[in-house]
Amino acid sequence: MTNGQERESRRCPSCGGQVSVFFQMLGVPARVNFLYPTERSALESPRGDIVLALCGECGLVSNLAFDPSLLKYVEGYENPLHCSDVFRSYASDLAAELIRRFDLNGKTVVEIGCGDGDFLRLLCFRGSNRGVGFDPSYSGPTDTNGRIRIIQDYYSERYAGLKADFIYSRHTLEHVPDPMDLLGPVRRSIGAGDATPVFIEVPNAARIFDECFVWDIIYEHTSYFTSGSLATTLARSGFGGVVVDEAFHGQFLTAFARAADGGRQGPVRVQAETRDRDEQSVARFVAGYSEIIERWGLRLDKLRESGKTTVIWGAGSKGITFLNSFDTRGVVECVVDINPRKDGMFIAGTGHRIVSPRGLAAIRPDAVLVVNPVYRDEVDDTLRALGLHPAIETL
Ligand SMILES: [Zn+2]
Repeated sequence: MTNGQERESRRCPSCGGQVSVFFQMLGVPARVNFLYPTERSALESPRGDIVLALCGECGLVSNLAFDPSLLKYVEGYENPLHCSDVFRSYASDLAAELIRRFDLNGKTVVEIGCGDGDFLRLLCFRGSNRGVGFDPSYSGPTDTNGRIRIIQDYYSERYAGLKADFIYSRHTLEHVPDPMDLLGPVRRSIGAGDATPVFIEVPNAARIFDECFVWDIIYEHTSYFTSGSLATTLARSGFGGVVVDEAFHGQFLTAFARAADGGRQGPVRVQAETRDRDEQSVARFVAGYSEIIERWGLRLDKLRESGKTTVIWGAGSKGITFLNSFDTRGVVECVVDINPRKDGMFIAGTGHRIVSPRGLAAIRPDAVLVVNPVYRDEVDDTLRALGLHPAIETL
């Protein structure tokens, strides 16, 4: 856990290298992907600061102001993406690929940060595997069917004795203050001379910074990995043969790795050209951020003046960052989300009401702002099926 003294430091939390701050967003909601059952609880949700810095040594971008005490992944944390057909199809293909690539049939697989266990079940049922999942926010039964066990806890050294044929973690590493706190115990659990493959999936920071996906900056993400910094972090944790690829329309990075020979590796330095590219990438982001904030500020003013009923589609991280970046209370009527557990809940920081797509029938919006362009066609189909024909824009 990071303490106050470390938060004030200007050192990379992963490698201790020199960092330079390039971006700040202060007083943002810290607990973004939690369910808020009342408007008041959403408005009063804790706030924290985002102070992003780029490490000149390993290329990691991290939030120097991150305070883990503001975030406890307890029951009520809600971040499943599998309600969408687009995402479900991606997860299904990924499960098939992992089963084929690592011959996951009748094996034991471990997932760190398994959420509600949906992907773990997929992997276990498809390949007749046994699964152990770790997630402190898990609230379902602890032993779901004898083959799958979910432990309501953070993965740590105390579970290093748990032997697995395959260990993976999806969209968790970016939430951990020091990535080595997660990868170190994984590496030590594998031991010497064992070839247990490891798979890591995180958001692709290069896309976020290169293409200025400003709505992807959230407090819950303390680290932002590029392919370079992810490979470096894995190598520093004692993994070798690291292969990093882009996935899900370039929005994610996937990394495959195995234990490196000779145990823990020394520091791995990024090449000078990689460092230059990272610096240019964050500089582009900073310039693009101002431009996007100005453009959407004007667009929202126009929507307010026109009196059109406007809704946001997507109550996930991106939508919440967008809503909190402007004075959106008088413009955005409500937020639509296909996750039934979010229906009737409220948005962190702004208190907007979340409705199901069916709930839109009564609202009859004139304009729908779709948060993630990947889901635009899916949203269009859903609206048509509801007999609604609003103007659709993507953020
Ligand atoms: Zn570093």
